[in-house]
Amino acid sequence: MVHLNVRNISQSFDEQKILKQINFSIDQGEFVSILGPSGSGKSTLFRIIGGIESPTSGDIILNDESIKNQPGSVSYTPQSPSLFPWRSVLDNVLLGQEIQGKRDRNTALQMIERAGLADYADAYPHELSGGMKQRVSFIRSVLSPQPLILLDEPFSALDEFTRTDMQQWLLSMWEEHKRSIIFVTHNIEEALFLSDRIIVLSNRPTSVQREITIPFKRPRNEDLLLSNDFLE
Ligand code: ADP
Ligand code: MG
Repeated sequence: MVHLNVRNISQSFDEQKILKQINFSIDQGEFVSILGPSGSGKSTLFRIIGGIESPTSGDIILNDESIKNQPGSVSYTPQSPSLFPWRSVLDNVLLGQEIQGKRDRNTALQMIERAGLADYADAYPHELSGGMKQRVSFIRSVLSPQPLILLDEPFSALDEFTRTDMQQWLLSMWEEHKRSIIFVTHNIEEALFLSDRIIVLSNRPTSVQREITIPFKRPRNEDLLLSNDFLE
């Protein structure tokens, strides 16, 4: 079960406020996107939820326990894929599972194939393009055992066709397993297509409220227009 509670998270760097009192919850099986322009603090918020960065104030609660400053409680995939250069694609993918002492080689190979990387299972990261590294990093996170997955712009380096294919694959995996997902993107269409709910981070300096939740049900492409009112 997942109940994540992001409580009053604020973050400042050198007097500059990046996140101001962010509050939201994620329930078991929800697919939530965090949408916002570059520099609005999406990756900062993710590093805090992932436990690798300490906020100025606030707390991150997972199932009644604080996971602040505790990496590993959720599956966190950073914006820039961090693959181990001395490990092959297959071994990088299996890394997420090794934490729990289990290696499911067949599933890993099937997923590598599904991601269009069948010929690269034994290749090393330096032999891959940016988009290929992103897909390896993505597979590693969906294969990891944690019930909550954080994906930071996981498809940003992919061409239009591959991105659409990966989005559909992610949705079908989510519909099958109902793990909880938080997905960061600056792409409104991507957020609308994928998620149950969108949290908007605005970076307008005058904005008091920086986080808005817009609940809706899929499919809703025609009937949702993101109005500026949401950002006031
Ligand atoms: P996004 O992911 O939405 O593009 P980021 O979270 O990467 O935004 O960055 C938000 C702002 O915080 C940026 O202005 C960035 O320069 C600043 N920032 C992030 N991390 C640090 C840091 N460790 N020190 C100083 N400034 C930082
Ligand atoms: Mg970012």
